[in-house]
Amino acid sequence: MFLVGLTGGIASGKSTVSSQLKELGCPVIDADVVARKVVEPQSPAYRLIVQHFGREILLDNGEIDRQKLGQIIFSSPEKRKLLNSITHPEIHKEMFKQILLYFLKGYRYVILDVPLLFETRRLTRFLTHTVVVYCDPATQLSRLMQRDGLSQEEAEQRIGAQMPLKEKRGLASHVIENSGSREDTHRQVLRLHTKLEDSMEFLVVRAVAVAAVAGLGGLFLCTVRLLVS
Ligand code: ADP
Repeated sequence: MFLVGLTGGIASGKSTVSSQLKELGCPVIDADVVARKVVEPQSPAYRLIVQHFGREILLDNGEIDRQKLGQIIFSSPEKRKLLNSITHPEIHKEMFKQILLYFLKGYRYVILDVPLLFETRRLTRFLTHTVVVYCDPATQLSRLMQRDGLSQEEAEQRIGAQMPLKEKRGLASHVIENSGSREDTHRQVLRLHTKLEDSMEFLVVRAVAVAAVAGLGGLFLCTVRLLVS
């Protein structure tokens, strides 16, 4: 099995492509969903966050008020660091667990849907391929304004706060061009899926796993022989 990173810019069409991949039966791990899951009430990260940030960051129903927490860490780099040191290990653990499950189920590749893939660069070394969903600047602006009900100025501000989409496109091993119709994007997604399914790269990890299991088995047999001799 191998890992494929999927990313894009705000409103470039990452969620659209992610849904199309899921419809084709591809396993997709959504980093945002995982990030929400690991801070659910009574989880280890939830308890640590309440311990360090106080109960005032909780909503009435006991869940973490993400907006409030976002405001706190926006104005304090130390608190942002503290929050990341609590959540990141849990996020990585949960992602690893899900990847392992897909591996055991025999999938050839898994998509990791990560909005800030190239900004944080934490995961890139584990990825065999990276995919950027791209659309031209005018299309991105108008889709963002329409989807989120923003003025042109607000939308430009949000796009301007991110790494330029052109730069991400330059870093990716595959680009899905999403300036056209959904059907056109779907054709590209299908081509990419076929290419990844046909690739033999999944054999590398399977071979390593088989070798590790065989090695452990050999070690076990040697130990048994030594003990009984
Ligand atoms: P992202 O996940 O990258 O923020 P989305 O997939 O939500 O972007 O797409 C942004 C908006 O543009 C959504 O409203 C979506 O329905 C729309 N959209 C995405 N791709 C297309 C397309 N090819 N044609 C028309 N609208 C699109």
